[in-house]
Amino acid sequence: MTAGGAGGTDRVDDAETADVDRTPSPRVDVCVVGAGPAGALVAAELSAAGHDVVVLDAGERFDPDDRTERMERHLRPGADAPVWDTDPERDAYSSTGERYYPLNAARVKGIGGSTLHWQGMVMRMHEQDFELGSSVGLGDDWPIAYDDLRPYYATAEEELSVSGASDNPFAPPREEPHPLPAFPPSYSDSLFAEACEEVGLATHSVPNARNSEPTEEASACVGYGTCKPVCPSGAKYDATRHVDVAEANRARVLDRVPVQRLEHDDAGDRVTAAVYATPEGEEHKQEAREFVVAAGGVETPRLLLLSESETYPDGLANSSGLVGRYFMDHLFAGMGGTLDEPTRQKHVGFNTTESHQFYDRPDDSRTAIKLEFLNYAGPAPADVALTADSFGDELLAEIRDGYGQHVAMGALVEQLPRKENRIRLDPTRTDDHGNPVPDVVWSLDARTRRTIERANEIQREVLEELGVDVGWTVGPDETGPAYHHMGTTRMGTDPDESVVDPQLRTHDLGNLTIAGSSVFVTAGAMNPTLTIAALSLKAAEHIAERL
Ligand SMILES: Cc1cc2nc3c(=O)[nH]c(=O)nc-3n(C[C@H](O)[C@H](O)[C@H](O)COP(=O)(O)OP(=O)(O)OC[C@H]3O[C@@H](n4cnc5c(N)ncnc54)[C@H](O)[C@@H]3O)c2cc1C
Ligand code: SF4
Repeated sequence: MTAGGAGGTDRVDDAETADVDRTPSPRVDVCVVGAGPAGALVAAELSAAGHDVVVLDAGERFDPDDRTERMERHLRPGADAPVWDTDPERDAYSSTGERYYPLNAARVKGIGGSTLHWQGMVMRMHEQDFELGSSVGLGDDWPIAYDDLRPYYATAEEELSVSGASDNPFAPPREEPHPLPAFPPSYSDSLFAEACEEVGLATHSVPNARNSEPTEEASACVGYGTCKPVCPSGAKYDATRHVDVAEANRARVLDRVPVQRLEHDDAGDRVTAAVYATPEGEEHKQEAREFVVAAGGVETPRLLLLSESETYPDGLANSSGLVGRYFMDHLFAGMGGTLDEPTRQKHVGFNTTESHQFYDRPDDSRTAIKLEFLNYAGPAPADVALTADSFGDELLAEIRDGYGQHVAMGALVEQLPRKENRIRLDPTRTDDHGNPVPDVVWSLDARTRRTIERANEIQREVLEELGVDVGWTVGPDETGPAYHHMGTTRMGTDPDESVVDPQLRTHDLGNLTIAGSSVFVTAGAMNPTLTIAALSLKAAEHIAERL
């Protein structure tokens, strides 16, 4: 199947940005491609250390003052336009695998990247995630262990102002409490608590990258409940915070400058320039000593493939032939229904309780499951009103009936790395700059299907114990991605089996680092961004050592 991008809305007019200087800087220390959390953290770290940094992002710089208007746009009846403006030609893609992949729902192009839109759940991966091959015989081992990443996880939690508690009996060891206290459990979490106890399911708090208390960077969460896709108060972390830090440290951050390709020296050992386009139709070259590609799990391999040359006809950093291979996402499993009592859904816009009890794999029969208790089950009153055929008292009765008694559980399920799942270039379609669009080739394997069924079994047990009239189930046939693309430039020590080394540097080019989930070897079932942040801090440290 092939799909175009979502409809474009309200793009910044060229005239508004014409006075922005998008000419390149003289050769800088570091050029970062992508201003999502991975690129922003690398830029903030390296600029704080006194290095000259230029960040190039394909998307635009959104005005923070527009966030309330964006929230209203999201809430407004019939508002199905994307809140973070997209462009159908710029963001065109194909999806030709067994399963359709809705790429443009899974990312935001712009300064801040997909964290503009994200939910903000931030957990550390488990020790077992890093050694799945040797401990359970599934997937492959990472070339680094949990202990190697542990100090970076602690710093990442500080950087993202994580609110959390040390109440998770299944979590890997940690040394310090989270920077901010956890959010209290929602009302419906308290309804679930007894049923979970009855069926022997241990629950605990969710670490959230949103402020439970005010900090210097942001106010405390005020409960707008629109976190996904926009937090007007800024209480939910997004990567513009680190873009601001980088700019305060004199880094240059350019928006609307999609990098077209990377160029290398004659020997093919080092990247020399990032070639980018401007809104005015010009093409420039940014030269640097070190390059970091942090363009997300799909655009990172695409850019490497687009950077083919005589020396590298199969694309840059691709001597293994694995750039784009082992694409993974988490799968959603869920179940919900109604209770005979109010459940106060949508009073909290994010999850406060979850369970990692079924996370670690007992053997090779299933993959990881992360169970969630949703606080946004069922329709909002406005949704009921919009789809109703009635008016007045009848409509009010329908709203009262339709809202307020729902509950639901969700789960993220791990997908193992498989070579056939991949990002490749579609030779039949081009984007607004004439570059082949990314083609997502994605399918589901039998073990993942079984794990989704197991997640549904656990959910059914809890919901039945709670006395829920189960109304819907998302099982293996209806499942979809959690919008966590991973694995397409995997990390390893063997250049034939991986794209980057444990320092996140490509095996083939000595000054090219990759930051982001594309380096993940296995996906686990934790939301990926805390691990992305930890790896980015590690990458920045290695780059600083070389500069
Ligand atoms: C709806 C939704 C909910 C989510 N919820 C969670 C959650 O609760 N917890 C969690 O951990 N994760 C969540 N995620 C995932 C999270 O947003 C991503 O893991 C994270 O943003 C990835 O960071 P990144 O910096 O690697 O890439 P991105 O954030 O995707 O940033 C990449 C940047 O690169 C730019 N770029 C791309 N190509 C080019 C190019 N050629 N030239 C220049 N720039 C380029 C893009 O414009 C973009 O700004 C969610 C995602 C979505 C969509
Ligand atoms: S609930 Fe909190 S984090 Fe979510 S949008 Fe509102 S203020 Fe932001």
